[in-house]
Amino acid sequence: MKMKIGILSRNSRLYSTQRLAEAARERGHDVEVMDTLKCYMDINSARPAIYYKGKAVEGFDAIIPRIGASITEYGTAVIRQFEMMGVYCLTESIPLGRSRDKLRALQLMSRKGVGMPVTGFAHSVENGRELIKMVGGTPVVLKLLEGTQGRGVVLAETYKAAESVIDAFIELGADFLVQEFIKEAGGSDVRAFIIGRRVVAAMERSAAEGEFRSNLHRGGSAQPTKLTPEERRTAVKAAQTMGLAVAGVDILRSSRGPLIMEVNSSPGLRGIEEASGKNIASRIIQYVEENARPTRTDSRRT
Ligand code: ADP
Ligand code: GLU
Repeated sequence: MKMKIGILSRNSRLYSTQRLAEAARERGHDVEVMDTLKCYMDINSARPAIYYKGKAVEGFDAIIPRIGASITEYGTAVIRQFEMMGVYCLTESIPLGRSRDKLRALQLMSRKGVGMPVTGFAHSVENGRELIKMVGGTPVVLKLLEGTQGRGVVLAETYKAAESVIDAFIELGADFLVQEFIKEAGGSDVRAFIIGRRVVAAMERSAAEGEFRSNLHRGGSAQPTKLTPEERRTAVKAAQTMGLAVAGVDILRSSRGPLIMEVNSSPGLRGIEEASGKNIASRIIQYVEENARPTRTDSRRT
């Protein structure tokens, strides 16, 4: 059945946005890419509405949000408004908020028993050493909460180094986390791409020489990889805990099994499509075809 699909994205030329639009058109749907920041909302009337370029946004069967980290708050409000209008959203507002708040995400996953590195959170501490001890001593990984693409992620080998980084973070007034360093991961991590309750593709990213961060933006490289059943289960559970139908789950392979680092709610398509050779965009559109219903939400059941 032909659908009218809206893609929320700041830029229609982004690889993932283009691929989704292309895949939807190939499958016979009408597609409109809307700049999230240019959507405006009427929240006063009894009938919630969204406007775009002077016109009411109407008649959509599904919305695919691609919300970048820098516009999380406004993007969440736009999705919420679509939800209130009863429009199916592939990524819902509540799961988006959960995934963007690292502390909240880790708290939710730990409650559900999803494996993760031993992690401490702090804003300002009297004694950095105590915090480091709490996660098992050095080496430790220190992360700024609002960092992306490996920025603000530091490996400290000694107490002295770790304490001075902590002092610098406190000075910045930033929230940060202190995490046990998973050495066995060997500078690699795994991205599992989830659609529905399944891992549809996976890649292993390896850090460049002399670097422990495997981000592709940091010169890391990606290869396809096969996940163990335990890794699959863990990845699916992580996405499910967030309430995300589509997610990119980042896993460290440790000697005690898969440990979740992060669950991305707008996972990029380029790396995973290139590494796996799979048409992930088309799989996402198929999922939308099978699941889009007016007023359907998944996250309220989580
Ligand atoms: P970002 O969200 O900015 O990408 P991450 O938390 O994913 O930051 O960290 C960036 C990279 O650093 C990861 O992809 C991984 O390769 C490495 N890394 C992060 N945390 C750990 C850890 N606790 N142990 C070992 N390596 C880690
Ligand atoms: N597109 C980035 C990635 O998947 C980040 C997405 C997000 O912040 O949810 O690596």
